[in-house]
Amino acid sequence: MARCSVCGNNYDKTFTVTMGGATHTFDSFECAIQALAPVCSHCRCKIVGHGVEKDGTFYCCVHCASLQGVKGLEDRV
Ligand SMILES: [Zn+2]
Ligand SMILES: [Zn+2]
Repeated sequence: MARCSVCGNNYDKTFTVTMGGATHTFDSFECAIQALAPVCSHCRCKIVGHGVEKDGTFYCCVHCASLQGVKGLEDRV
């Protein structure tokens, strides 16, 4: 049994994600996304698929990146 670090739910099927040296405990992917997913710096949506990154800034898609003036990116598949 472990407690989700986002919603505090006590659940027997929690899992942990280690990111940047810190380990987080979650009861669901929804909570993991809430805590860890990067946010598109253009439309502010949570990036849960393959986003794009440029100079440490995340975008959900090339379209958003290009609207922010980022050039030369292609969707990574
Ligand atoms: Zn949770
Ligand atoms: Zn976006």
